[in-house]
Amino acid sequence: MDVGRLDDRPTSYEHKGTPDMRLHLILPKVEPNEFEYPKKCHRKGCSGMRFTPRQEVSKKIVDAQHPEVTAWRYECVKCGYVFRVYPKGVSEKQISKRVNGMAVMLYILGLSYGAVEIVLNSLGMGIGKTSVYRAVQAVAEQVPGMKREKLLGGYKTKAVGADVTSVRCNGKWVTVGIAVDAINGMVLSIDELPGEDAEQLKTWLEPILDAVDADVVVSDDADAFKKVSDETGRSQQVCKSHVGRNTDALVAELSAIIGAGQDHSLDALHITSEQALSDLGALKEMIHSRRPEDQPGLEEIYLRYANARKPGKGKKHDVAYRLRNLFMDRWNLWPRLTFYRNWKDEYGNVILDGTNNDCERAIGWWIKERYRSMRGYKQERSALGVSRLIAFAGNHLARGLHLADLMA
Ligand SMILES: [Zn+2]
Repeated sequence: MDVGRLDDRPTSYEHKGTPDMRLHLILPKVEPNEFEYPKKCHRKGCSGMRFTPRQEVSKKIVDAQHPEVTAWRYECVKCGYVFRVYPKGVSEKQISKRVNGMAVMLYILGLSYGAVEIVLNSLGMGIGKTSVYRAVQAVAEQVPGMKREKLLGGYKTKAVGADVTSVRCNGKWVTVGIAVDAINGMVLSIDELPGEDAEQLKTWLEPILDAVDADVVVSDDADAFKKVSDETGRSQQVCKSHVGRNTDALVAELSAIIGAGQDHSLDALHITSEQALSDLGALKEMIHSRRPEDQPGLEEIYLRYANARKPGKGKKHDVAYRLRNLFMDRWNLWPRLTFYRNWKDEYGNVILDGTNNDCERAIGWWIKERYRSMRGYKQERSALGVSRLIAFAGNHLARGLHLADLMA
């Protein structure tokens, strides 16, 4: 099975709105009597496809139910090479896929490598913590770095939510980008980024937008994301929660300064304190009602402050200039803040909720939460791999993720 395909996209994304991280993992099974006829000769370079069974041999394994299984020795008709074929759930290694799967599952659930070793050993499954580590990394490596088109397997969505976070890994800060389907919350990609300026974000995000054929970018109101959406020709929804919080804080701060009566910068514009306070109140109201038609009203307010002068070099920005910038910024931001109001499906329903909450949830669940217990990590690649693995598992809540599909 091609594990890169995300075609079992759940119709209603199950974990949306639920407070806890949930996982639905399906363990590999060991079936001692199920053998697959070899497809190809195991000798490198030989193209032989026909084999003669030579003998049955027994193999001791580490497993919860089968201490011993039988393997078949096959001989290649073409070159005479003899190799073993193992039953389902068993490989040339000693530890069964089921035990490896249990190790991965326990690790994902939050146990350390050492704790997984203790738990499994106490249940009679002898696996060392180095093997646990290897099992986790091996599975993580099979998770598609989802941004490449072929790995996304033709998955399409109209809107991609993007965000950047930093995690401390081995004493060093690592920038991680996360992209989700902004409509159902599914994680599309988790990647390490060289940095978070507009060019770096574009290099990362544009192939993802192209691959899923997205028309809209959902993000916070960082300038870098505005640039990315403009330069890639996408519409943008800026998270209403971010803007709401930031605006409330600024309105409160500026109102307090005006109320204190120490700043006289408004005098030059012939604007009274009452007027300024009322303008701030109006902005606050508009930011929370987010009616697309309020843009001219915001422009009108901005124009009252448009002539505020920038204070000289090294001088603190005064109230008049800060008000000018705030009103100008929100007026300009308006189409990106209210985009979701007018973006509807063919039945007239809005498609987005105006927030970037899916990204934030994904960061909280799949990245931050797990990194806390990964302090011992030597390499950021393995930390990233585990985040990807957990997010990938999160994408498969509806039908469950078959760990066997991620095991070579
Ligand atoms: Zn051969």
